[in-house]
Amino acid sequence: MWEENVRRVVPYVAGEQPKDKNVIKLNTNECPYPPAPGVEQAAKEMDIDSLRLYPDTESTALTEALASYYGVDSDQVFVGVGSDDVLSMCFLTFFDGKEPVLFPDITYSFYDVWAKLYRIPFRTVPLKEDWTLDVEGFKAPNGGIIFPNPNAPTAVYEDLSVVEEILQANPESAVIVDEAYIDFGGQSALPLLKKYSNLLVVQTFSKSRSMAGLRIGFCIGSKEMIKCLNDVKFSVNSYTMNMPSQTLGVIAVKDDAYFRETTGKIIRTRERVKEELAAIGFTFTDSKTNFLFASHRSVPAKEIFTYLRERNIYVRFWDKPRISNRLRITIGTDEQMNTLIETLKGMPGIC
Ligand SMILES: *Cc1c(COP(=O)(O)O)cnc(C)c1O
Repeated sequence: MWEENVRRVVPYVAGEQPKDKNVIKLNTNECPYPPAPGVEQAAKEMDIDSLRLYPDTESTALTEALASYYGVDSDQVFVGVGSDDVLSMCFLTFFDGKEPVLFPDITYSFYDVWAKLYRIPFRTVPLKEDWTLDVEGFKAPNGGIIFPNPNAPTAVYEDLSVVEEILQANPESAVIVDEAYIDFGGQSALPLLKKYSNLLVVQTFSKSRSMAGLRIGFCIGSKEMIKCLNDVKFSVNSYTMNMPSQTLGVIAVKDDAYFRETTGKIIRTRERVKEELAAIGFTFTDSKTNFLFASHRSVPAKEIFTYLRERNIYVRFWDKPRISNRLRITIGTDEQMNTLIETLKGMPGIC
């Protein structure tokens, strides 16, 4: 009867990673540019003999590099295996109350998976018609709050005053802001840490630092919150982040010029693509991310998704309430985006 004792979950479904290298991959919000040049050099020079040893359990070098880059103390930084690991630890650590945890109805679809896995009560707060956060909805009694800023897959960025209003209304709750896309034009909530010790800001190397394959995420908060996270992490697995990720992550953080150059390029491409897609009948939110949340005035999203897929261009589509006529399109290189636009222009009904 072991089956009665199984912890049943409906898992998160990640975007597809096609085997075919010719696919134009605009479906998982990766960066189309390589990691900082120093990363390649350091990977070639890596001390392979040291792979015999367990990695540093505290990821000291990476934690210190991040602390110095963001101007905080190193006991205010926690690193994990992608921000998915950091977020999962946050759910396990901070959301153990009786009241429901609150997050938007349309948001990162991992949140409800973790809530169900850890048996955390939760309630979704519907986004408004224009896809912005319903701030009033986040003033209800709760056992914690989490939302991405900018949100995904809507790409909508909320001004810091909105984040602060939610913090002001919830002094008793852990408030977690998932800033996976903050480097593409938004303002981070990090400065609010000085005023709010219940705030935790989560970021990742997967999008703006071109390192999704190394799995590096981190969060910054009060040293009290970081201590709580470490206590839980060291109760699950001491050796989460491997040595190569720790070593190469440090090099990526230190190359600020390259980071600014690549995020700047993505932003410029995004703004141009907005104009070109608008000219052929697409509408979208004012993205401050590395993707667009788009729909066409006459052709259904699902048909466009299939048409593009048959032509080796992958974008993301969800057959879910409220968003079933939307595509999430990652911003690739200028060349990739030109191919996307030309292909769309060839689709009957688009122009
Ligand atoms: C991509 C993403 C993450 C997770 O990224 P990692 O690769 O695990 O760092 C977390 N939150 C949001 C909103 C994302 O889009």
